[in-house]
Amino acid sequence: MDYLDTKGRVFDVQKYSIHDGPGIRTIVFLKGCVLRCKWCCNPESQEYKIQTMKVQGEDKVIGRDVTVREMIEEVEKDRVYYYRSGGGMTLSGGECLCQPEFAGALLRAAKERGISTAIESMACAKWETIETILPYLDTYLMDIKHTNPAKHKEFTGRSNELMMENARKVALSGKTRLVIRVPVIPTFNDTVEEIQGIARFADTLPGVDKIHLLPYHRLGQDKYEGLGRPYLMGNVEPPSKEHMETLKKAVHAVCGLDCQIGG
Ligand code: SF4
Repeated sequence: MDYLDTKGRVFDVQKYSIHDGPGIRTIVFLKGCVLRCKWCCNPESQEYKIQTMKVQGEDKVIGRDVTVREMIEEVEKDRVYYYRSGGGMTLSGGECLCQPEFAGALLRAAKERGISTAIESMACAKWETIETILPYLDTYLMDIKHTNPAKHKEFTGRSNELMMENARKVALSGKTRLVIRVPVIPTFNDTVEEIQGIARFADTLPGVDKIHLLPYHRLGQDKYEGLGRPYLMGNVEPPSKEHMETLKKAVHAVCGLDCQIGG
């Protein structure tokens, strides 16, 4: 079978993004995730199955099956923007590594067309799976959510050992640019101590040059209602700008990595 005929399941395509990798990018959101983060702002991404979600009172079908050929044709339409801005295509989710054949083939199709590639992923997959996509990947935007396995499990459903180990392996491979992204979640990891713990870990990874601190927001809350699910973050408020600045300074106090608030 031609690799361009590989099928995958996506639930959204966002154009002209400037927060998910360098330059102007098209973000392809793949369905399916192995975690269940309490704060997840894309709950419709978590299940692999195609779902119906109420959006402003109307039923909306979430998920469609596409081939790599169809998807890359859509991505290629904005080639001129990528070229001018140093942008490209970013795979997001869900966790794009839950569909490794499709993700790998789509990244390969982009690279073969001269389009720069990135993934947003928390590296919760077998190393053999990650290894297969690295030759087609320019930038790995990797989530590190917490250094404590028990706390990680409590808030995401899975412990963090595999992800930390994969972060190290990706860094040591030297095959892709690695950016560490930290969702800053009150009641979970928004303390100076924890953010510095993540920064210290990131600083041990060869080749990491940036840390992004991504403040928690409640924009996904309505989606939970639309899916008939409870919103588990209750009334937790997003961190203030001042607190985010404090955390950024805390990162700079323990390592030389460039740290920015937002993607
Ligand atoms: S890893 Fe991302 S997509 Fe998956 S549940 Fe967590 S926040 Fe949602």
